[in-house]
Amino acid sequence: MKIEFSSLEENAASFVLSDAPIAFANALRRAMVSEVMTFAIEDVKIYDNTSALFDEILTHRLGLIPLVTDPDSFVPRSQCSCNGAGCPRCTVTLTMSVEGPGVVMSGDLISQDAVVRPAEDNIPIVKLEKNQKVVIEAQAYMERGMEHAKWSPTTVCGYKNYPIITHDERCDGCGLCVEVCPKEILEVKGSAVGVKDGGLESCSLCRLCEQACLNSGIGDEPAIHIGMDDRRFLFTVESAGSLPTVRIIKHGLLFLKKQSDELHEALSEIRG
Ligand code: SF4
Ligand code: SF4
Ligand SMILES: [Zn+2]
Repeated sequence: MKIEFSSLEENAASFVLSDAPIAFANALRRAMVSEVMTFAIEDVKIYDNTSALFDEILTHRLGLIPLVTDPDSFVPRSQCSCNGAGCPRCTVTLTMSVEGPGVVMSGDLISQDAVVRPAEDNIPIVKLEKNQKVVIEAQAYMERGMEHAKWSPTTVCGYKNYPIITHDERCDGCGLCVEVCPKEILEVKGSAVGVKDGGLESCSLCRLCEQACLNSGIGDEPAIHIGMDDRRFLFTVESAGSLPTVRIIKHGLLFLKKQSDELHEALSEIRG
């Protein structure tokens, strides 16, 4: 099994997972989406809310603000020695006091922790007219996206099979498939169709090229063939801002390893 990055930035990454079954690719995707823990606001005390939003809607919007997460400095509340009561090892308090007119932004949240704070300062929460006020105190803790999507570290996390594009000897380079390709990755090379340099990974597997070739009256089978490598996958991961993409991928892999180790241990005990 191998992972090769084609791009790796703080908020977005693309990589190729090779020599792995599709079950593993899907397990990794699910682990990144729903098993990697992040901070999000869960409990909110509302001292004053004279905005146009009900308390519930205001609280819901606060919960959806991505918070920068430092998983090494905190423990999940569900595993903390405070038994879910909330303590400095598992919980961060954020406060906000804003008076209108103006728009309440995520940057108005003041965190008691230097690291755990809104990932972006410019997320609008509610618009206040003159004399309207919002005063709250919120508690945030780490959980999994499995519990609620607000704890998921990703906005995009998906994969597709690595495309395989070939043509057979019936191709005469008429170029009809080139014209319909929405990704513009095909070209006529000499007297036959080919893929532009570096274009293969952009193929969306839509098969419009095969259809165009069939429409040319070539017969029952197109001369261009779109296939998929069933042990090679192109991943795209985008972070919501809580964790850098490299940590999302690493923690997703570590979760799978832990699960696998536990299963191995359980099976060993059964065998004696
Ligand atoms: S449409 Fe068919 S014959 Fe024409 S270039 Fe494409 S693959 Fe070749
Ligand atoms: S499958 Fe779609 S994207 Fe891929 S080469 Fe054919 S037309 Fe282009
Ligand atoms: Zn605790």
